[in-house]
Amino acid sequence: MVENVIIIGSGPAGLAAAIYTAREGFNPLMLCGAIAGGQLLLTTAVENMPGFPDGVQGPELIDRMTKQAQKFGTRMENVDVVDVDFKSKPFKVKTAEKTYETYAVIIATGANAKTLGIPSEMEHMGRGVSTCATCDGAFFKGKDNVVVVGGGDTAMEDSNFLTRFVKQVTIVHRRDAFRASKIMQDRTLSNPKIKVVWNSSVEEILGTDATGVTGVRIKNLVTNEVSTIPAQGVFLAIGYTPNTKFLTGKLQLDGQGYLITKEEVLTDIPGVFVAGDVSDKFYRQAGTAAGSGIKAALHAREYLQSTQSSQK
Ligand SMILES: Cc1cc2nc3c(=O)[nH]c(=O)nc-3n(C[C@H](O)[C@H](O)[C@H](O)COP(=O)(O)OP(=O)(O)OC[C@H]3O[C@@H](n4cnc5c(N)ncnc54)[C@H](O)[C@@H]3O)c2cc1C
Repeated sequence: MVENVIIIGSGPAGLAAAIYTAREGFNPLMLCGAIAGGQLLLTTAVENMPGFPDGVQGPELIDRMTKQAQKFGTRMENVDVVDVDFKSKPFKVKTAEKTYETYAVIIATGANAKTLGIPSEMEHMGRGVSTCATCDGAFFKGKDNVVVVGGGDTAMEDSNFLTRFVKQVTIVHRRDAFRASKIMQDRTLSNPKIKVVWNSSVEEILGTDATGVTGVRIKNLVTNEVSTIPAQGVFLAIGYTPNTKFLTGKLQLDGQGYLITKEEVLTDIPGVFVAGDVSDKFYRQAGTAAGSGIKAALHAREYLQSTQSSQK
């Protein structure tokens, strides 16, 4: 059997694409990933999703979108795609167990925020530790201090943004200089609410379930001195890894591994579309991911209709 459209990934981008393609009768197959649901499973309250005036828990939002996609007939399999063949049609999409054939593909495999690799960060993830300042900054309104980890443009942007909410932002950076652009550095270093702790790594995030995050233990990498910074939140801004390993050599990727697209959702290969954070370094929001999933679905519809009518 040749599928009309396979959607790879089951975050907001893939699910929005599934809702549209399913409702329009294309009977999509979603290969969800071994762990379905995407980044929103890592968070608690989402307060900026239009349509939810009282907020919604991240996992509940994904659950609702999944039910909506299934209601219109999306079939879902919790498997990872390990390879693709876009050289000939129908396209081939491969998992460890099986090879699927399909006329169109929507890639919505997202990106994972890089983490420090210390056990305490996962204990507090979504409850005081965040990888998304735009998403979670407002939860820290009125707090005394939050720590931002990183030294690139994202860390600078996040720090400046967070000063809208908190009394102080402390950037902890491993080196003695930022790698961010000069303009972002200047803006950051001249902001009186931002303090920088150089040459230091975060060794532990302090706090319990009951207290929430209370601070970070840091080590000065030059002197080996260990100290504590009191803080109510920690924002990790050390980069993202787009989930595109299986696409290396198959589609155009940039230096960081993001898919390069035209008009946001198109690739060089007609019939292969892209949606969400896998090609988005800037917005990284559930709403924008869902929006691009919808765009990809509408392009897929146009593509499938034109190729099917030309085959008649
Ligand atoms: C802690 C945190 C809090 C956030 N809070 C908010 C918020 O409050 N508001 C907001 O708008 N946004 C928030 N975001 C951002 C939002 O979650 C993302 O922008 C959004 O999830 C991106 O959607 P996506 O579908 O592109 O990718 P993802 O959500 O990353 O989903 C990618 C999907 O692809 C699958 N996948 C990956 N590789 C493969 C493969 N090889 N084969 C098959 N499947 C694969 C994964 O399993 C997953 O299902 C938050 C993010 C984080 C991390």
